[in-house]
Amino acid sequence: MREGTVNDIQTTTLEVDEASAPLSGLDRCDSCGAQAYVRATMESGTLLFCAHHAAKHRDALQPLAQVWHDETAKLQER
Ligand SMILES: [Zn+2]
Repeated sequence: MREGTVNDIQTTTLEVDEASAPLSGLDRCDSCGAQAYVRATMESGTLLFCAHHAAKHRDALQPLAQVWHDETAKLQER
C-alpha cells in the first residue's frame, strides 16, 4: 500500500469499464434524486449516491463494494 494513491482504485476481475466510467449529470442519487457523485458497484448491483448520501452510507457500504467510484472531489475543486 502506497500513500497518495487513493484515486487508483484497485480493480480486479470486475467489468472495469462500466464500474469506472465517469458519472454524468444524468446519474441520480438512489436516495434523494440529486446528481450522483458516487457509484458503488456491489455484487448485487449498482448504487448511486449524491455527495451527501455517499458520506452517510460510505462507512457501511464501502467495505462491501467491489468498486467505490467517488467523484465528490469534483465538488471541492474550484
Ligand atoms: Zn442523495
